[in-house]
Amino acid sequence: MKNKEKIAELKGNTCKKKFCPFTRDPFEDCYCAETTTLKTWIVLYYCGGHFEECEIYRYKNQNQGNREVL
Ligand code: SF4
Repeated sequence: MKNKEKIAELKGNTCKKKFCPFTRDPFEDCYCAETTTLKTWIVLYYCGGHFEECEIYRYKNQNQGNREVL
């Protein structure tokens, strides 16, 4: 699957999901804090709806408490 198709698919999927609560005030190591073309699909996937699979989210959530989901 080409990148554009993958991104379009991920954009479509993320519309139905909740964004990661940390996207409002991301950490320095968050994928969405430094967006490059190579990381676009990662931001869309993790930050845009699959944040519970994100290692950064899991680590921060355990160590900084649960934040309200948007
Ligand atoms: S999904 Fe991960 S990278 Fe994205 S904002 Fe949440 S913690 Fe940061």
